[in-house]
Amino acid sequence: MNALITHEISHYVDHYTFSENPHTRWLNPLVGFADAGDPVFLSLKKAVSPSHAMPKDLLGCARSVVVYFLPFTKDIALSNRKSRLASRHWARAYIETNRLIIKLNAYLAERLKQQGAETAVIPPTHNFDTQKLTSDWSHRHAAWIAGLGTFGINNMLITQNGCCGRLGSIVTSARCSPSKRPDTQYCLHKYNQTCDACVINCVTGALKADSFDRHRCYELLLENAALYSTEGLADVCGKCTCVVPCSFTNPVQDYIDRTQDQHSLIKKGG
Ligand code: SF4
Ligand code: SF4
Repeated sequence: MNALITHEISHYVDHYTFSENPHTRWLNPLVGFADAGDPVFLSLKKAVSPSHAMPKDLLGCARSVVVYFLPFTKDIALSNRKSRLASRHWARAYIETNRLIIKLNAYLAERLKQQGAETAVIPPTHNFDTQKLTSDWSHRHAAWIAGLGTFGINNMLITQNGCCGRLGSIVTSARCSPSKRPDTQYCLHKYNQTCDACVINCVTGALKADSFDRHRCYELLLENAALYSTEGLADVCGKCTCVVPCSFTNPVQDYIDRTQDQHSLIKKGG
C-alpha cells in the first residue's frame, strides 16, 4: 500500500503539472506514513493545541496517516530572498500548491476507495484559529510523526529535501507500514549550534533562536496577503525558509558528509 500511494502522489503531481500548466513547478514528492493509533499524536494536544484532532476524530476507522511534502523548485525560493515583502513567485507557489493539494487529496481518496479504503481529506491550510493562530490539525507535526523530518528553529519541518515546499496529509482506513522517525536533528542549530541563518533572515524580528512571536510574524503575512490579494489568499513570508542551509536539503547530513570527507583527506594526506 505504501508503494501504491507514493506512486499515485508522484504520478498525480506530474499529471497536474502537465495538464494545468501552473507557474509553480515541484520536485519529486516525499511521502511518510504513520500509524493512526500512534500515541505520539496525543502529544500534539500539548505541543500544538488542546483541540488538536486525533486521526480517529477525522475518520473513525482510521488506520494510517499519510503525509507528503511537495518541494518547490529552487527558483521559487531564490525569487524570495530579497526585500522585506514576499515575491510574487513565492506567493503564487503557495496559492497554486494549496490548489494542487486539494485536488491531489480528492484523487487519493478516490484511488483508495477503489482499494476498499475510506479516507478523510484535510484542507492544506486556513483551518486555524485566527486569534490564537493554532490549528486543529498540524500537517507539520503529522509529517514529523510520519518520519518526514524534524523541526528547525524556523518552525518548519526540515525534510531530506529541505523545507521549501508544502505539506499535505490524509487519514485513511488503508493499512500502511509506519515510516521510521529520524533519530538525529536535521536543524544545524539544534544539532551543533552552527547556524542561525533563519533568525538573521527574519524581517520582523519575530523569530529568535529560542522564541517565536507568532502574532508579530502574522502581521507581515497579512501584509503580503493584501499585496497579492488578486492572486488568491497568500498569507506568506518565508524569508526564514528561503536560501538558508535547510532550504533544499537536510543540512546536518551535508555537514556530516563534509566532515567525513575532510577526515578522509587528512588521513590520506597523513
Ligand atoms: S536556517 Fe539553520 S538554524 Fe534555521 S532552521 Fe535551518 S538549519 Fe536550523
Ligand atoms: S515568516 Fe517572515 S516574519 Fe515570520 S518568522 Fe519567518 S521571516 Fe520572520
